[in-house]
Amino acid sequence: MKPLGPIPSGYALIDGELAVDGRKASALVAEAGSTPLFVYSAQHICRRVAELREAIPSRLALHYAVKANPFRPVLQLMDGLVDGFDIASGGELAQVQAAGLAADRVSFAGPGKREIELEAAILAGVTLNLESAGEADRAMAIADRLGVTPRLAIRVNPDFDLKGSGMKMGGGAKPFGVDADRVPELARRIIASGAEWRGFHIFAGSQSLDSDAVSETQRQALHLAARLAAESGVALPHCNLGGGLGIPYFAGDKPVDLRAIGAKLAEQFAQLPDALTNTRFCLEMGRYLVGEAGVYLTRVVDRKESHGEVFLVVDGGLHHQLAASGNFGTVVRRNYPVAIASRFDAPVEEEASVVGCLCTPLDRLAEKGGFPRADVGDLIAVFCAGAYGASASPAQFLGHGPAAEMLV
Ligand SMILES: *Cc1c(COP(=O)(O)O)cnc(C)c1O
Repeated sequence: MKPLGPIPSGYALIDGELAVDGRKASALVAEAGSTPLFVYSAQHICRRVAELREAIPSRLALHYAVKANPFRPVLQLMDGLVDGFDIASGGELAQVQAAGLAADRVSFAGPGKREIELEAAILAGVTLNLESAGEADRAMAIADRLGVTPRLAIRVNPDFDLKGSGMKMGGGAKPFGVDADRVPELARRIIASGAEWRGFHIFAGSQSLDSDAVSETQRQALHLAARLAAESGVALPHCNLGGGLGIPYFAGDKPVDLRAIGAKLAEQFAQLPDALTNTRFCLEMGRYLVGEAGVYLTRVVDRKESHGEVFLVVDGGLHHQLAASGNFGTVVRRNYPVAIASRFDAPVEEEASVVGCLCTPLDRLAEKGGFPRADVGDLIAVFCAGAYGASASPAQFLGHGPAAEMLV
């Protein structure tokens, strides 16, 4: 048997079934009308944000990275919980606007922003995290033509990266951000243009469970911000320190030590250099805030055996759960936390693989896991589905279309 990932805290058992915020999986599916279904727990998200705020210095604002989960009710819940939003496309700008979020709390990072996206963002009053000198020129020209003052920040490609992180976003040659040594000159040029100067965005990686590595990255980011601010010759109004906090997906993963990270940040804030004394800092996170708050429910449509192995074939699959299938940036496929939601308290009785309904061998949601015996009609839960599930999977593949989503 292969191990399954750890089931996040906060899920309960009612009448032998998995329950989310006091509601049984079968009742949630009945309410939604069908499977597959993403269920997001508002209580879980609120608790997570509260724990984070409790642990980090109050001076740090908290931003939500929309790409993790742009489901409108989640954005609207977040609106009351966080201080800002980070988007990465014109499509996400439309999503935050449709959700009624104030554009002056939104910043826009991401390489390859098209003219039409830059224009929409500048008109809305969104802060642009500029990814290159060329993009800065295009933004300033568009703002000139429109006769508006753009809000401009520079995304810095730092000289370091987040050690051991799942996704490296800094260090060396990168499509993201402006190389640190070219930042002061560009900052001076932006300020001289009359734009509203919004400072730096320093994002060095994500999905780290190593609190020492996160703290070290934050220390380096503060150090770099101070140096670049001094070299730019102007006080730094804002600095986005990125995120980096991961969640446990796989057997053996341990939650990140939030208290240790908070304590280190407090230490660093107590000894900030002069260039940063009035700077407003923020952290920006997606998966840490919403990842463990989501569960994906899918129903068994076939149970079969092949060469002595049991396959539970479900009505969902990698078209909603690309990451859980192991096809989204992983080298070695490992099992996410997966359980039989309709037999949540039953003991392990057999080894089975949960496979999706797509006609490809890549579509595996759990490989050779230990499960109670499940049959056609049972509900399967894939946990850690709140971030990069619906938003980062090829829903159109094979014509199945998106899953239903629900915030409870
Ligand atoms: C994706 C992204 C994030 C969020 O990463 P998580 O791992 O979801 O926390 C934050 N900032 C930027 C710039 C990103 O591209």
